[in-house]
Amino acid sequence: MGYDIERFMGNVNEGLLCCICRDVLEDPLQAPCEHAFCASCIHGWLVHHNNCPEDRQQLAVGDLRPLHRYMRNDLGRLQIQCRNAGCGCTTVCSLESIDRHERDCDYKLMSCMNPGCPAQFDRRNLDSHLAVCEHRSRECPDGCGYTIISAEDLQHNCIAELRTELELLRAEMICRVEETKQEMESRLDSQRRHMVHKESILQGKVEELKSQMSRLMADVRALLASERQHRQDLDQADLEKRELMELLKGLQKEFRSKSNDGIQKLPNTRPLVCLESIKRKPREV
Ligand SMILES: [Zn+2]
Ligand SMILES: [Zn+2]
Ligand SMILES: [Zn+2]
Ligand SMILES: [Zn+2]
Ligand SMILES: [Zn+2]
Repeated sequence: MGYDIERFMGNVNEGLLCCICRDVLEDPLQAPCEHAFCASCIHGWLVHHNNCPEDRQQLAVGDLRPLHRYMRNDLGRLQIQCRNAGCGCTTVCSLESIDRHERDCDYKLMSCMNPGCPAQFDRRNLDSHLAVCEHRSRECPDGCGYTIISAEDLQHNCIAELRTELELLRAEMICRVEETKQEMESRLDSQRRHMVHKESILQGKVEELKSQMSRLMADVRALLASERQHRQDLDQADLEKRELMELLKGLQKEFRSKSNDGIQKLPNTRPLVCLESIKRKPREV
């Protein structure tokens, strides 16, 4: 859509009007037939038509070109009123600089930036509105740390707010303590199970060692007993050997004295048998 022709000072050349909206060209484009249109107007037309709305000559989007330079210059120099003229702005400036003015125009309607506030004011009055806006927020002057929206100012009660906050924190803390407790308990449980398992393994090993030990002790006892027995046998054999030696010596003495007496006598076989048995005995031991 073009600029409302009513906003322009003086006469506007017919060639600078859009053939579709009949207002002053905005973002102008030109067809090969030299007819000019606002970009949005001709694009809208070509959605359902394939010709120039003025003379019905064939036309496609690709045929459109920028306006002749001299026409663009004429357009840019047209004097136009600010769109906020209705609100009191008296600014009139060239079309090419009107956008810049309107962006910064003091009469531009602006929405209050406080969330939830529907108010609109021109730029000059916005600041005074912001100072009293019911939707403005500020930190509680009593120091409770809450941001109060002005509309709720009267209902604000530091103690109630803090109590609610405290309740929330308490509930959160109880919850966390409970969680930690459960976690610790489960950790302890698993450690306990681990220890019990280890203990039973160790117990088994101790039992095994005990039984090995008692087997060894029994072996040692048996060895000691057999050693004692051997020693007794040795002592016994020693004793017998000494007796026999005594006996032998006695016999030899007797034999010698008898041969000296010249009595020939066959030697007694019995002591010899005894001697044989003595010689054998230590080996058996
Ligand atoms: Zn137009
Ligand atoms: Zn045409
Ligand atoms: Zn203005
Ligand atoms: Zn406001
Ligand atoms: Zn407070």
